[in-house]
Amino acid sequence: MRWALIGASRIASGHVIDAIRAQNGSEIQSVLSSDVARGERFARENGIPDSGTDLGRILADESIDAVYISTTNEKHHPQAMAAIAAGKHVLCEKPLAMTLDDAVEMVRAADEQGLVFATNHHLRNAGSHLAIRDLIVSGRIGTVLSARVFHAVNLPEHLRGWRINDAGAGGGVIPDITVHDADTIRFHLEEDPVDVVAKAATSGMGEGVEDSVMSVWSMPSGAMVQTHESFTHRFAGTGIEFHGTNGSIFARNVMTQQPVGAIRLVDADGETEIPFDDHDLYKRSLRLFGAAVAGTGRPAADGADGVKSLAVALAVREAAQSGKAVRIDYGGF
Ligand code: NDP
Repeated sequence: MRWALIGASRIASGHVIDAIRAQNGSEIQSVLSSDVARGERFARENGIPDSGTDLGRILADESIDAVYISTTNEKHHPQAMAAIAAGKHVLCEKPLAMTLDDAVEMVRAADEQGLVFATNHHLRNAGSHLAIRDLIVSGRIGTVLSARVFHAVNLPEHLRGWRINDAGAGGGVIPDITVHDADTIRFHLEEDPVDVVAKAATSGMGEGVEDSVMSVWSMPSGAMVQTHESFTHRFAGTGIEFHGTNGSIFARNVMTQQPVGAIRLVDADGETEIPFDDHDLYKRSLRLFGAAVAGTGRPAADGADGVKSLAVALAVREAAQSGKAVRIDYGGF
């Protein structure tokens, strides 16, 4: 499979280029940047033959099968629509778009063209989360009563650009992190939140966008979900917990890009450490994307998953801004 990268981003150079190249027969042909010099430097540093600022030219290359979109969030929709019109499979970064309508349009357009559209929600590829899901699905904790996600981090200095000061580019902790937590909770509980209440704040980093948020969601099963996302917490550490009628799962340091962390199951038999695989999250995401293109599998997170995680994040923001409970609109998905 031949790829074009749409966006000379850190997530591409830090994780996804390696993950693409780890797949048999996959190579990267070109990179799009809005800046000629940055595109050329990115191509040189990452061993990519071609770079350019003209999306039409890159997409006109018929040898390109798929694109990976990792520009800032407001660009995902027009770039994905152009790639789909050119007949390319799409792996798109989260959040899929700035609005639900745009995300729905992207996913429906790919579907109509018979193209694979996937969302790069890395966490559901983690060995830790796959192990947690197995515990829940196999009934080890009984009926799930509640879940808690702590995803309050210290946003590293080098990421403090558009994320903390540019609402127009999709900045703010809700599109950045709540969207991942929405996908992760949906993955584990196999159900979609019905409504949310939330409070957001700026706690030292956000300039015109929220840098902290807490929310509570109700699930169709009756389970309650509590989440905390922030850019400003230096020592909080991350984790996720599921509490059921027969046991509780405590996972620490698992809301991360690295294959790390620890999982503890507590039930009537006492405490058990749960082992899990330490494979690379992004390589698994790319492997499943390749299988979907080959017609032998499905992406880890598809377009509908991306629409739904965005829908939850948008509802959390609306709830925080309005002070009211918001019923989640999934745009027909
Ligand atoms: P970056 O800030 O690294 O890149 C985003 C855009 O910023 C690039 O497309 C590039 O524009 C521009 N840019 C890059 N470096 C510079 C620079 N030095 N000066 C000025 N502009 C620059 O973003 P991220 O990689 O952090 O995020 C990109 C997307 O990926 C977002 O949608 C984000 O939500 C998502 N993401 C997903 C993660 C995941 O694990 N699934 C993790 C991190 C991010 P151009 O392309 O025009 O050159």
